[in-house]
Amino acid sequence: MQKTKEVIKMLYSNLTVNAQGHLAIAGYDTVELAKKYGTALFVLDEDKLRENCAVYVNSMKKYFGEDALPLFASKALCFTGLYRLIAECGMGTDIVSAGELYTAIKAGFPLEKAFFHGNNKTDADIEYAIENGLGYFVVDNEEELAAISEIAGEHGTMQKILLRITPGIDPHTHKAVVTGSVDSKFGSAIETGRAYEMVEMALASKNIVLEGFHCHIGSQIFECEPFCDAADIMLGFIADVKEKYGFNTKILNLGGGFGVRYTENDPQIDIEANIREVAAHVKARAEELSVAMPKILMEPGRSIVANTCITLYTVGSVKEIGDIKNYVSVDGGMPDNPRYALYGSAYTIMLANRAAEAASFKCSIAGRCCESGDLLQEDVMLPRPKRGDILAVLVTGAYNYSMASNYNRLPRPAIVMVSTKGEKVAVKRETFADLCLCDE
Ligand SMILES: *Cc1c(COP(=O)(O)O)cnc(C)c1O
Repeated sequence: MQKTKEVIKMLYSNLTVNAQGHLAIAGYDTVELAKKYGTALFVLDEDKLRENCAVYVNSMKKYFGEDALPLFASKALCFTGLYRLIAECGMGTDIVSAGELYTAIKAGFPLEKAFFHGNNKTDADIEYAIENGLGYFVVDNEEELAAISEIAGEHGTMQKILLRITPGIDPHTHKAVVTGSVDSKFGSAIETGRAYEMVEMALASKNIVLEGFHCHIGSQIFECEPFCDAADIMLGFIADVKEKYGFNTKILNLGGGFGVRYTENDPQIDIEANIREVAAHVKARAEELSVAMPKILMEPGRSIVANTCITLYTVGSVKEIGDIKNYVSVDGGMPDNPRYALYGSAYTIMLANRAAEAASFKCSIAGRCCESGDLLQEDVMLPRPKRGDILAVLVTGAYNYSMASNYNRLPRPAIVMVSTKGEKVAVKRETFADLCLCDE
């Protein structure tokens, strides 16, 4: 047994090993899925996704109040079927580009629940969003504020916005995913006084309706303290702007970032308990400062989708280099999952067709690209694989497909959705013709 059933369950409640010794997701034999749809393949468990959404929607309503709303951070995973699902689950969304917005529009997503993020929205982005009735911009900087005001004016509308504020929190996470500190490329810092200047400018802007503030302190955070600390700073800021400008904050967006278990070494996390604790803290603090409780938003990305997906590959070769290193090569790699190459991210990997066998072979899992750094993971323990085995990487729902590229002209994999109601292709595998679609 490579990973005990308990470990697999811990990472992902709907994964099992079936009677054939095959890994199964939501009851579907992964070896059968690989045979039917080909590899590399993403398999997404729709029921698990609905369950993850419900935890946020219900807990936020229960502890923050009926008007609280979780926004799915689209950058974690984006395709039309996903927007339809999260809309059904009662979530809003945060988007960071006109491309994501276009996808949401295609899916019929209610745009009054869409928040447009990013540190460089172009005039074309702003125009497209306003024309389509976007709910809110989360304004990053002065130039953007002026551009939105002007373009909203041209369209004869008043545009609702939040201002992105940097509270100066370091949640002790990976440097590349820290976004809440003063030197961040995102937002306006309270510490430097810039945040107050932005409020003044927003309040003085003609076609802008300032509704509140946003902060995002980082990703893969397992504790409540960084969120409570950020909320303290933001509520202090909200009290200040009330006193200084008589401005009553309607919305406070606490950002995304609850962590996800990629391996058994990651801490356990209880999202509902975390939300309960943050809510109690926020309510107490608001009362202390005599500010009315704003409508609370959060922006979970990975904690909605990460543990709903696995990636299946077919093993092509096993290379044993003396007793120095073993490589197992698969028919995917950094084009469908660049996270190990980018951040050294940990993943749990197993042989899906031999899931009940003992693991005594230490190896690095290599992708098929012409790139030495194209690895999915190093020092993985597997039964010695052979050509044709099916390899599964677990917890790949977030920042895998959404970061996928066509490097080496590899077509992007398909996403198959499975649920108690059946299976369906949610995103088709790209064809060779697709690869040349834009070539003149
Ligand atoms: C990335 C990001 C999120 C989502 O982060 P997760 O770690 O995927 O939950 C939410 N809000 C903003 C502004 C982000 O940049």
